[in-house]
Amino acid sequence: MSDAGKGLRVGQGYDVHRLVPGRPLVLGGVTMPFDLGLLGHSDGDAVCHAVTDALLGAAGLGDIGSFFPDDDARYEGMSSLRFLEAVRERLAEAGLVVANIDVTVVLEVPRLGPYRDEMRAAVAGALGIDAARVGIKGKSNEGLGEIGRGEAIAALAVALLHEPGA
Ligand code: MG
Repeated sequence: MSDAGKGLRVGQGYDVHRLVPGRPLVLGGVTMPFDLGLLGHSDGDAVCHAVTDALLGAAGLGDIGSFFPDDDARYEGMSSLRFLEAVRERLAEAGLVVANIDVTVVLEVPRLGPYRDEMRAAVAGALGIDAARVGIKGKSNEGLGEIGRGEAIAALAVALLHEPGA
């Protein structure tokens, strides 16, 4: 067997949250002006949750629910950037380094373009990596289903980790 890919670990993450009135809309750690927000125990930031799961999956460390149970009062209303900061510590303990992260946010509105760089910087900052290693793009669901009707926002993430010296 060749050594191609030695020391590399890939992980995927997915999350979806319902859009409801009376909540701020927070995606990728950035609060954006909108009349609805994501329902959730924390701030409902589906981008951070998908990235958290991608990183934990790549590291073989389980998932967001096992680390941050949604019945734990400590996480109520918390910024989900804190999840990324906690994962960053776990990765460091495991000797793993983030090569890159790529996120697709599936939503109808608002448009993410104006917030993209701020989101990338926030996610990268929480993980202690360069913003150039974080990709975030928005994708319409073409009016189909719950997301198409603007009732929910989903996020898909992949993360690549490497073990220096592996
Ligand atoms: Mg979530």
